[in-house]
Amino acid sequence: MTSGHGTTGETGAAGPTGGAAPAGGSGGAPHRGGGTGSGLTRRQLLGASAALGGAAWILRGTVGPDSARAATPVPPGLPADTELFQRVFENWSGEVRTDQLWTCAPRTPEEVPVLADWAHANGWRLRATGYRHTWAPLTVADRTPESARVLLVDTSRHLTTVIADSPTTVRVQTGATMEALLAHLADRGLGLTACPAPGEITVGGVLAIGGHGTAVPAAGEVRPDGHGYGSVSNQVVRLTAVVLDPASGRYTLRTFDRSEADSAAFLVHLGRAFLTEVVLRAGADRPLRCVSRLDIPASELFAPPGAAGSAGGTASAGGAGGLLGGLLGGLLGGDGPRTFAEFVERDGRAEAIWFAYTDYPWLKTWTVAPTKPLGSLTVDRPYNYPFSDSVPEPVARLAGQIVGGAWGSAPLFGQLQYLVAKVALTGDITDVLLSGGLIRGLLTGDVLTHLLAGGLHSDLWGPSRTLLQYVRPTTLRVTANGYAILARRADLQWVVSEFAAYYRELLAEYQARGEYPVNGAVEIRVTGPDDPAYSGVPGARPPLLSALRPRADRPEWDTAVWLDVLAFPGTPGLERFARDLEQWLLRTFDGTRAGLRVEWSKGWAYTADAAWSDPDLIDRVIPGSLRAGGGPGWDEAVAVLDRHDPHRVFGNPFLDRLLK
Ligand SMILES: Cc1cc2nc3c(=O)[nH]c(=O)nc-3n(C[C@H](O)[C@H](O)[C@H](O)COP(=O)(O)OP(=O)(O)OC[C@H]3O[C@@H](n4cnc5c(N)ncnc54)[C@H](O)[C@@H]3O)c2cc1C
Repeated sequence: MTSGHGTTGETGAAGPTGGAAPAGGSGGAPHRGGGTGSGLTRRQLLGASAALGGAAWILRGTVGPDSARAATPVPPGLPADTELFQRVFENWSGEVRTDQLWTCAPRTPEEVPVLADWAHANGWRLRATGYRHTWAPLTVADRTPESARVLLVDTSRHLTTVIADSPTTVRVQTGATMEALLAHLADRGLGLTACPAPGEITVGGVLAIGGHGTAVPAAGEVRPDGHGYGSVSNQVVRLTAVVLDPASGRYTLRTFDRSEADSAAFLVHLGRAFLTEVVLRAGADRPLRCVSRLDIPASELFAPPGAAGSAGGTASAGGAGGLLGGLLGGLLGGDGPRTFAEFVERDGRAEAIWFAYTDYPWLKTWTVAPTKPLGSLTVDRPYNYPFSDSVPEPVARLAGQIVGGAWGSAPLFGQLQYLVAKVALTGDITDVLLSGGLIRGLLTGDVLTHLLAGGLHSDLWGPSRTLLQYVRPTTLRVTANGYAILARRADLQWVVSEFAAYYRELLAEYQARGEYPVNGAVEIRVTGPDDPAYSGVPGARPPLLSALRPRADRPEWDTAVWLDVLAFPGTPGLERFARDLEQWLLRTFDGTRAGLRVEWSKGWAYTADAAWSDPDLIDRVIPGSLRAGGGPGWDEAVAVLDRHDPHRVFGNPFLDRLLK
């Protein structure tokens, strides 16, 4: 990642108010309570940090066992040679931050059952940790104190081997990154149909939460062997977990074939198990073309099904569509699909990123393209949207002002993000030229030159991994809620139109009261359910806790619409807004025409003040969403995970409450 002119790179050049990055902080001092000693409140600190990418964020807080700064005694009786250090656990968004916690980094899978025996004997619990990108407190809770008997087990240091298993499978240790996994597959001419957008996350972390991308079969598309349209977990053919051996009473490594019934509980487990390695199925790589456009208004892209003007026809008239936008829309298929469902029907792969308070979403569609289409730019590595990974300086500056208290600037921020994306992707500066003083003041000639310098990225072609992985950890540090709506493919446009209309209405309602609870984007993606046949293993079952597990009573629900709303942590009113939205989602997708499940890694169970807190959601609604429809599900998963770890070594109080 470069930190070029006009951008804030990994070192976070400017703080939110123009000063030095405040996110830094030494690793030694545990952060407690609201004050920070530097005059910043916790909210400001979180928000300010959120606005900046930064290696400083990730690297801070490591102290070795012999260090004078190690605050608590070394856990007694740990197996000799355990690689041990103390580290503040801080998740990517900064919403979970603990005291210094003892952390170890096993060099081999065999070390983990030994650690589990130790933990059981000494009353400690083990928490697997990868890159800490999860928003939900699945690893540890915010403010976990030093005194908690929690040993973090970092897989990302050593458990990183990726090797071929068979011509169409790969054996990967769970601390390997998704980027390494996809690079290995690509070297062998293999690929996945879809996967999470970031590459710097571990395979173990992705499997734990049922990670997904965006893909369903396009019209006429026949699924090639080895490919699937569900979660990454559903591609697993074999897994190795740390489980209690009832005969010896000791923990041991045990390999489960996907055909073995119990494996279904380990494929998505929220951190209630420990996986050391898995074997995944892949298929022959299918090169992709990814086209971006920002010329279709939300009112049309998310129009109610059958609404007049919602299909086909002309490029949008005037306004933010811009001249070049209209022209480009024509070249890229302006006479083709215009609604989200039509794009999904044509290409099977789509993502809409809709910046708050703006009218024209950034729509990406991917098509399978064995040869390079005329006019596409060939790419040979991932992360091809530098403007979103390496935040342009005006965006960082305005983000800083917002989290510093200028919450009302959210509409301006949305507009700025939209324009930056549009200029960098399409080269169209019409809207900037037509904009008022504030935007013109932010998007100066220098900034525009910088945005255009990297070449246009609206039409890219390359091996699938280069277009499936497009988010770096340096992107704006936002928080997100997340849901999957299971529905019929024929109801896709109905789902997105209902959501878009309510979201817009709610945003306007808050705005009318002078409240700006959202300052990031809405993201919409689509996948299929976890059809176990994708794994190619006879007798395979779907992952029991996956949001994509098919409903036995609803075989016609062949599609999942993933909805996320992003905002800076600490934004006033955010949780209230998220609760209003969540309650509406539950009412609207109540299991009649479509059903709702939560996206484990993100925000859910909102009260007016906090995520992951609403008792009704945690105790009833969420388990109910995975019990509904009958058949094995929630209860079996909880029972299997309990049976293989009856001492709950792999757990925490939050999971104890949820998984019961
Ligand atoms: C900017 C950003 C973009 C994202 N985009 C997507 C996306 O496009 N699609 C998507 O699905 N998700 C997405 N996510 C969420 C991400 O996929 C998950 O949070 C994932 O868990 C992160 O992996 P990690 O290595 O950071 O795991 P961590 O956050 O470290 O761990 C996550 C959970 O997995 C458990 N765990 C980790 N390793 C193991 C193991 N070996 N055995 C057992 N349990 C383990 C941990 O205990 C914890 O409960 C995104 C997150 C961010 C921050």
